[in-house]
Amino acid sequence: MEHKAIEDAVLAARQRLDAVDAAVARGLADARRAADAVTCIAISKTHGAEQIAPLLAAGQRHFGENRVAEAAAKWPTLRDAYPDVTLHMVGQLQSNKAAEAVALFDVIHSLDRPSLLAALARAMDATGRRTPCFIQINLEGAAQKGGCAPADVGALIAAARGVDVPIIGLMCVAPLGLEPAPWFALTAKLADDHGLTGLSMGMSGDFPTAVRIGATHIRVGSALFGERA
Ligand SMILES: *Cc1c(COP(=O)(O)O)cnc(C)c1O
Repeated sequence: MEHKAIEDAVLAARQRLDAVDAAVARGLADARRAADAVTCIAISKTHGAEQIAPLLAAGQRHFGENRVAEAAAKWPTLRDAYPDVTLHMVGQLQSNKAAEAVALFDVIHSLDRPSLLAALARAMDATGRRTPCFIQINLEGAAQKGGCAPADVGALIAAARGVDVPIIGLMCVAPLGLEPAPWFALTAKLADDHGLTGLSMGMSGDFPTAVRIGATHIRVGSALFGERA
């Protein structure tokens, strides 16, 4: 891109970040929560380096991807330029990709089953990294693929403790087309019941609600990048 186009792209990225920040700040104030209680993760799936670079230039440092192969293709180069980036895995993870995921990501939001836990533990043992993980909750039963049933969360936390995989909270995706607040509240209650403080919840369409209900990490894609193709 030529210089003027780059400047315009950075300005647009900064405006989108400011709009999300302002909505987060309102939600935090309404809920009487601390001003720095939420980390905004820019979900960059499907977007190339040319779309990600303006957000980096505007100061955004937390990014999320939902596919290991796509992240492996994009992020090593971007990270050379911005070593302080924190990369989050937010998509379904196959056990055979666990080693690559542990090598690439700083936080994993989609731990949802014992077989994946075992694969992650092996990968962490091999590398010496202890990657913090959220347990993804299945809120819809059979209608949703992936996610740990609420009744199984306690056992998965205990198993994670046994293999020294750090669990920092719960993650959920609110069911499409339904009022999200009850699902966020359920996830917050479940985390509290299990003594977990991290809550990864809220996307472009519902993050202000999630912030009011206690989200510590919001995952925002289209509000920062525009609609995905
Ligand atoms: C794509 C994605 C998001 C971001 O969605 P937007 O609606 O674009 O903000 C958040 N979380 C997960 C798990 C995703 O796959």
